[in-house]
Amino acid sequence: MQVAVLGAGSMGHGIAQVSAMAGHDVVLRDIEAEFVEDGLEEIHTTLQGGVDRDKITAAEMDAALERIDGTTDLEAAVTDADLVIEAVPEDMDLKQDVFADVEATTDEETVIASNTSSLSVTEMASVLDHPERAIGLHFFNPPHLMDLVEIVVAEQTDERTETFAVDYVKKLDKADVIVRDTAGFASSRLGIALGLEAIRMVDHGVASPADIDTSMSIGYAHPMGPLELTDHVGLDVRLQIAEYLRKELGERFKPPQSLRRKVRAGKLGKKTGEGYYVWEDGNRVGMSGEWGEDDE
Ligand code: NAD
Repeated sequence: MQVAVLGAGSMGHGIAQVSAMAGHDVVLRDIEAEFVEDGLEEIHTTLQGGVDRDKITAAEMDAALERIDGTTDLEAAVTDADLVIEAVPEDMDLKQDVFADVEATTDEETVIASNTSSLSVTEMASVLDHPERAIGLHFFNPPHLMDLVEIVVAEQTDERTETFAVDYVKKLDKADVIVRDTAGFASSRLGIALGLEAIRMVDHGVASPADIDTSMSIGYAHPMGPLELTDHVGLDVRLQIAEYLRKELGERFKPPQSLRRKVRAGKLGKKTGEGYYVWEDGNRVGMSGEWGEDDE
């Protein structure tokens, strides 16, 4: 099967990698050659890491790399694709443009999927002449380590498309959950609820970020506490999703002012070196500043 992945950023290159490892031919497309190169290089680095840790063989790595091409040419990427997965930034207008552009150069059979974390796939599909082939394939970060894909069924999605998506996810050797296209699906909705409440608890001085996280990681066996997870995902990304859920689902998703302040100050989490924790070389080295001072 031929898979086209649009967007070679954090998620796109990971989706390309797991698709190639499952035996699919993959074309990875971004808007600048430099971004495509970066994505391909990331794939190489991750696979090499897998070889070094004896998770995969060098031959498996070489075969997967052989199956991935990179391009900036949208038409070349999607024309022969059976499945197109967009992983471009979380912006409805952009995603609708991408959906429409893909439809213009593919036949009706091509399944068009979005890796959106929370936007409406139904709304994206509304720009298509054949919206029944649209679906959400919500991978988790990083796709090569996270074993779940949320399959988001839009109002227009037909059974063929849903079955196609389930088969694709099974071939990746990942678990699937089928979710109706509602704001935040299943995972983001619950994850953001927990993350926002943890931030409010920090603001109210209930406990330190580390102790709140430990209560969930040890007490509830979560692999990572909600604040550390917020640092991993990016405070800006979480704020944006919270705003969207607030608009769609109500005030219970209102983001705390403290989150907004951190985002404005560029404290976006691991990627900028500080969020709820301080990060050095990808490692947590301490907690960020004061906590428990905001009574809002
Ligand atoms: P990113 O910013 O790392 O990557 C996006 C890439 O898309 C960039 O390289 C950009 O140049 C490229 N791009 C922009 N316009 C394009 C176009 N028209 N065609 C092709 N490429 C284009 O973003 P990301 O974190 O990989 O997120 C991508 C999508 O995945 C978003 O919808 C996001 O909500 C979703 N998602 C993100 C995560 C996460 O943890 N980062 C998890 C699950 C889902």
